[in-house]
Amino acid sequence: MSSKITIAIQRKGRLYEDSKNLLAQSGINFSMSGERLLARSSTMDIDILLVRDDDIPSLVSKGVADLGIVGQNVLAEQTATNKKITAKSILDLGFSKCKLAFAKPLNSKLRSLKNKRIATSYPALVKEYLKMNSISAEVIKINGSVELTPYIGIADCICDLVSSGVTLEANNLIEFKTLMTSQAVLISPVELKKVKQTNVINLVKRFEGVINASDSKYVMLNVDSGAVDKICNLLPGADSPTIIPLQKDNKVAIHALCKEPVFWETMEKLKSNGASSILVLPVEKILN
Ligand code: ATP
Ligand code: ZN
Repeated sequence: MSSKITIAIQRKGRLYEDSKNLLAQSGINFSMSGERLLARSSTMDIDILLVRDDDIPSLVSKGVADLGIVGQNVLAEQTATNKKITAKSILDLGFSKCKLAFAKPLNSKLRSLKNKRIATSYPALVKEYLKMNSISAEVIKINGSVELTPYIGIADCICDLVSSGVTLEANNLIEFKTLMTSQAVLISPVELKKVKQTNVINLVKRFEGVINASDSKYVMLNVDSGAVDKICNLLPGADSPTIIPLQKDNKVAIHALCKEPVFWETMEKLKSNGASSILVLPVEKILN
């Protein structure tokens, strides 16, 4: 058996661009050709399976793909429905953030879910939620346009994915309870094939490096040597800054990798505490 890895990503839709970018930043470039499901990376010995997001948990569980990128919402619904879905999430990818939430029409008097009709594309998760909270209600499975169901009289409320809330607003709906928050995750089979283990581990490290870098900034500034401690304490998530003496008397440069966002407010605080020439630079990759 070959040690080559296959990774399954969404063919088109909300996950595609970010999945493709993550692969590109990790050194995996590919181009799609027509309707072909399989693309070969031009830069690494990796195959990319381009499929509907709903097929990803099953392809990974069966070992057809060694890794997959999918929303936690889809993975959770399928895991709750089908015992054969055994793929596990191994890394939060930080994109496609949304939540699965209950919403009702703006003019609805609904106060609880008890004995109500709930339309959703996530029946297993909604049923699990109702069971855990000992609520009896009717769950109606709908595959698309869930937000219209209260207006055609088939549901009292809905449980659907919400990101900005614009779609709910456009349909005169208001969210009233979150069932789960979700983001894209990297999934892998419960047991990886032995020959592929090393390649998978190395690739996951690259993904981690890209994700860690996305929140990190490299900060450079100058300050009087007496203020070094004070300034270092203000740098967000900086482990061990580098202090470099400058030609000018009593001045040093501080260089630090900040693992948390550096906002304008932080820069202004650094400046008011004596820092000058403050540069905040993006970090592309980190390998620890
Ligand atoms: P496919 O054709 O591959 O089956 P789809 O129509 O089921 O695609 P998309 O709408 O592309 O799916 O959404 C894919 C994933 O993106 C969702 O499962 C969810 O994890 C995430 N997502 C983020 N924000 C939203 C949102 N506002 N609405 C729907 N999904 C969202
Ligand atoms: Zn889908």
